Amino acid sequence: MELIISTDSATYPVFLANGATSQLNSLVSDRYDSIFVFADETVWHHHADYFNQHAAFDYQVFVLPSGEESKSFIVYEQALTFLLENQASRKSVILAMGGGAVGDLTGFVAASYMRGISFIQLPTTILAHDSAVGGKTGINHPLGKNMVGAFHHPQAVVFDTNYLLTLPTSEVRSGFSELLKHALLSDANWVEELLLKDSLDDLLLLNWELELAKGISVKATIVQKDEFERHERKFLNLGHTYGHAIEGVVGFGRIKHGEAIALGLVVSLLLSNQRKLAKVWTKKLCNYGYPTEFLFATPFSQLLSYIKKDKKNQHGELHFVVLPEIGQPELTIVTEQEVEKAHTLLLALIK
Ligand code: NAD
Ligand code: ZN
Repeated sequence: MELIISTDSATYPVFLANGATSQLNSLVSDRYDSIFVFADETVWHHHADYFNQHAAFDYQVFVLPSGEESKSFIVYEQALTFLLENQASRKSVILAMGGGAVGDLTGFVAASYMRGISFIQLPTTILAHDSAVGGKTGINHPLGKNMVGAFHHPQAVVFDTNYLLTLPTSEVRSGFSELLKHALLSDANWVEELLLKDSLDDLLLLNWELELAKGISVKATIVQKDEFERHERKFLNLGHTYGHAIEGVVGFGRIKHGEAIALGLVVSLLLSNQRKLAKVWTKKLCNYGYPTEFLFATPFSQLLSYIKKDKKNQHGELHFVVLPEIGQPELTIVTEQEVEKAHTLLLALIK
């Protein structure tokens, strides 16, 4: 399947299929001085042989620590050093092979190395259907997630669903949250379909190629309208204000991004007066085994201090994306008391 992402500043293809890695050969042939692969350590361990069977070009590989650890200043500097030591030029390309973490780090390296070189996203998680398109790249600062970054689009996204076969079920769960977010932002029937699934085993049986294509299309439509997040793109933050606060309090990488977003979606639904839907989703997320217990030991004041740092806030007011109707997101100002009430209700629902 081929989709096209088109914004004012970039147009690029998304190849989504089992075996899509072969597409790389025509994408990179004769176009670049040198090719670098930045690969997540776990992904490389599982899939280096498969990659080598499909890739008919020379490359140098830089193996990154698995997951969120790679979105750090230390790894960022090591990556730049690797490129410099290996004489990467402005006509080099980096292939980002891994989940959203490797994609975000690699994209930011590509955005800043020699003021910008090319990169191609090779997402290997369900969640990365979201992160691999749209051009947001970045790393974390100890004081806040994704606080340092740049807009830099890839030349292409090559999503080989073969890589998903080794994905742990906890990562399927995590990626499902972003898929549900895309459904909530777009289509009530799709939400209903997704929420019919009773157990994690049912989720594993989804037609992932089709679901990922739908998710990518929702993101593409929004990014096309508002590339630089002045208006509509903020809607993609549904569930993220509270979710990022959880990640901040628990510690980046200690809870999976999508696991935090799952709870953030409940809070957004509660703030939208969508209590019934919030209840249904909370029941499902408990069935799927999303971690929830830790919330009882998490003081609301700590969450609030992260929520106050959210990039959407203005003039000291808290801005949340809410969903009065499925498919009709809005950005609204909420009070600290309203967020606390939603947090308390969430605790009651997961008890
Ligand atoms: P991740 O990249 O941290 O990967 C999760 C884990 O899965 C890691 O341990 C990794 O080693 C492992 N893994 C990855 N692919 C695998 C595979 N095929 N088989 C086995 N193991 C595999 O997590 P993620 O959920 O993909 O991405 C989360 C990150 O994405 C967060 O940092 C988040 O901020 C970012 N994000 C960015 C955007 C954006 O627009 N740029 C959007 C959403 C999320
Ligand atoms: Zn997200």
